[in-house]
Order: sequence, then structure tokens, then C-alpha cells
Amino acid sequence: MSRMETTTQKSTEAKMSKASLYAERIRVYPKAVSGIARDIKWAVLVFCLTVYYTLPWVRWERGVGRPTQAVLLDLNAERFYFFNTEFWPQDIYFLTGALILSAVGLFLVTSLFGRIWCGYACPQTVWTDLFMWVERRVEGDRNERMRRDKAPPSFDRAWRKVVKHAAWLAIAFWTGGAWIMYFADAPTVTRDFWTGHAAMAVYGFTALFTATTYLLAGWAREQVCTFMCPWPRFQASMLDEQSLIVTYQGWRGEPRGHRRRDSDAKALGNCIDCRACVNVCPTGIDIRDGVQLECINCGLCIDACNEIMDKSGGAPWLITWDTLARQKAAAAGKRERLRILRPRTFIYLTALVLAVATMGVGLATRARQILSVQHDRAPLFVHLKDGSYRNAYTIKIANKTQSDSDFTLGVEKLEQGTLTLAEEGQRMPTLTLRVPADSIATFRVLAAGRPARLHDGEEEVDFTLRNNDTGETTTDSSVFMGPGAPVR
Ligand code: SF4
Ligand code: SF4
Repeated sequence: MSRMETTTQKSTEAKMSKASLYAERIRVYPKAVSGIARDIKWAVLVFCLTVYYTLPWVRWERGVGRPTQAVLLDLNAERFYFFNTEFWPQDIYFLTGALILSAVGLFLVTSLFGRIWCGYACPQTVWTDLFMWVERRVEGDRNERMRRDKAPPSFDRAWRKVVKHAAWLAIAFWTGGAWIMYFADAPTVTRDFWTGHAAMAVYGFTALFTATTYLLAGWAREQVCTFMCPWPRFQASMLDEQSLIVTYQGWRGEPRGHRRRDSDAKALGNCIDCRACVNVCPTGIDIRDGVQLECINCGLCIDACNEIMDKSGGAPWLITWDTLARQKAAAAGKRERLRILRPRTFIYLTALVLAVATMGVGLATRARQILSVQHDRAPLFVHLKDGSYRNAYTIKIANKTQSDSDFTLGVEKLEQGTLTLAEEGQRMPTLTLRVPADSIATFRVLAAGRPARLHDGEEEVDFTLRNNDTGETTTDSSVFMGPGAPVR
């Protein structure tokens, strides 16, 4: 190896050893803007926050002794109340269904409109927008904030920072407190909180959610969308050239340039290179660089550019909502139609309709009672004096209705089958069992009969349960054992 090569290699290694994987954050100072995208964002923000903060205070009458909160996840009682629907832990598959529904809905919306969820309705976006609004009220718009942050420390800067952070903390506290109210009766937990009678968990979780809201919406902001959230990583698989996204019409805008500064103004495109679109961007990117992972599709750059076009006399919508395919065609002087229904959107839509239909049918036909029968292990069976056999079972009945109910329990497929409550001893063809409203009751039941089809010492029997008030019937299968039953 020559001396020169060795020296070059050494200097390259030296440079590499100095290179750092850490990139310092470039602080973003988004400028205020007005326009159609901003108006939609305000409307969505007001709607989402109103629902979030007021929903726990909506009352819903369910009868004496029952929670009056319309939406409540009562962890102690193991119930989720959603207006007039009540979910038990056994209904967990509805949660799975709701998650699938949300995921497929998000896939469909993303394939149609890109990251529209991120730009308008994601909680991170909504709260960051709210925090930015506060910031502008206290510290002024972009230029004023930048100037003050660069200037030496002053009383003016200090009091504004204190007021801003105090307001952020107040909103974060309100947000954390509202979250707790979804898990406990809102008026009660509020009173207990301020009188010092709430559980430690209430104070702990309120503090936790206050801190996370303050940090994520106040400090982390666009970094959550760019670095922490996994969604931008795999949303690319849902987008295609037909997705409607925020696009810079390069064929119209380029070559960009300042009209007065650049001598050959006639050769320039519509973009006057004012960077207004960059200055309003909450993630600090330049949409003119094409589709980027950081872009949340909020459309604020559209508003900013439309303002500029209006002032500079250019045609509006230089930045617009459009598909890449249509833009490519427009650049070539052709026209291409918008294709909403295409294979991937059709698949997502079909999956969504199926999921909604399945959930709807599942909810409409949801059982209001559950029967669970478990055969006792010891003894497996008892030979009675009259020649019949007896087996013992643990019967669990869940009464999901809002009234105490009498249930009729019977046994089928067992020759001369009778039932006895273990503590009563009277053999009957059926038993009447009372179960309080909204609860689970356990009974020990003895079944006796003359099994006619014993196979390896056991045969299948069905237990039937009928609600005497509603007529709803449920069946659960078990086994009846006799001579030759396997030892377990
Ligand atoms: S580039 Fe435009 S649409 Fe994308 S995040 Fe920035 S302002 Fe929003
Ligand atoms: S706001 Fe419009 S004109 Fe100004 S730099 Fe952006 S694209 Fe160009």
C-alpha cells in the first residue's frame, strides 16, 4: 500500500470516528396561517376536545344502584358501560372487533387520503395544535418567538415562558384528570380528588397523564410523529400513486425564483420561493422536496401558498390535494381521472363492511345469559341404591339482565335424568335457580340417571338453561360418567 493511500485511509477513519449518530433537534417555529385546511383542523380540534372533556359528565339512567355515567370503564365491577350497552369481561371479543374495525378503517382512509388521521384527528396533533395556539397567544407568532429566543435573557421573555408553561400544565392537568373520569364516576372522583379522599392511584395516574400530555404536546411535538410513532413507517404500504395527498405541483411551480431578485422572471414557474409553506409546517419540512415521511398531510402549506398566490397574482392551489398519478399526467400535459375505487380500497372497504356487519350482528344477538357446566373430579360417579348413577357438577350462571331472574335448568340426553341441588336433596326433572341481576351465581348440582350409551365409561349430556322471564335459552355440554370411566 502506498504512503498516500495509507494517509487517505487514516484521515477517512479519523473523520468516521468523529462522526456522530446523534443529530441535534432543529427547533420548529410554525407560523400561524388561515385557510380551508386550518378551518377544518380547528373544527376537528374543537369537536374532539369537546367530546373528550365533556363525555364523562354525560349522565345515563340505568336503574337503582347502577352507575349513571354514560361512558364508564368500571374496573372494580369488571364492566364497561357505553350508553345503554353494557359489556362484561366475557364480551372481550367486541374489543377485538372494535380494534380490527379501527385498524381497517384507518387503512382505508390512509389508502384514500394519506396520513389524514395524523394531520387532523390524532390526539398528538390535536393537543399539539392546542398547545401551539396557547404559545402564540402568549409569545407571539413565529418571527416574534424566534427573535425573543435568540435575544439575551430578559424579564419579558421570562414572564412569557412562565405563563406559557403554566397554561400548558393547566391544560395537561385537565386532560389527565378527564382521562381518570372515564374509569370512575366523574362528579364523585372530582369531589374526592379535591377533598383529598381519592385513591392514591387516582392522584398517581392524573400526575402521569398530566406529565405525558405536557411533555408530548409541549416539548416533543413533531418528534413524536417523526421518531416515536410507528405509523409513518408502515403507512407507505397503504399508499399508492392514486392516494389523495398534499402535493406540490412542481411542473407548475418550477423553476422557482424570486420575481424581483431573479433577472429572467418570465422563465420562472409559479413558485416565488418565499418559503411560506415551510414556515407554517408543523414538522418543519419543505413539501416541494416531494413525499416525505415527516409529512402529516395537514394541508397547512396549502393555505400558506394560496395566501401567497393570492397576493402575488398567481393561480391558487400550487400546493394542493392530488394524486401522484394525476400530477405525473398533468406534468406531461395529460389529464387523469381520480380513481377512488381500486383493488386495495375495494379490499379495505369490503373488510370494513364485513367487520361492521359482524359486529352489528354480534351486538344484536348477544346472549343475556351464560351457562357454564363443570364436572366434578372426585368422585367421578356414585352408584345409587336404585341402580342409577349420580354425577356432581359445578354450574355457573351469569345473568346479564338488569332484573333478578328465575332460570330453569334441565338435563338432556340422559335416560331418566333428574337434578338435585346439592344442599337440598330433592330429585326433580328440572331445577329453578334464582340469580340476582347483573351478576354470576354458582350452584353445586347433582344429576342422576341411567346412562344408556356409555362409551369408555362416559356419555355426553346437555344442560339447558331457560330464563323464565325472557324465554332466552342456552345450552352447555358436559359428560355423565358411569362404570368404566377413565381415572383422571
Ligand atoms: S408539508 Fe404541508 S401537509 Fe405536510 S406536514 Fe408540512 S404543512 Fe402539513
Ligand atoms: S408558499 Fe408557494 S410560492 Fe412560496 S415557496 Fe411555498 S410553494 Fe413556493
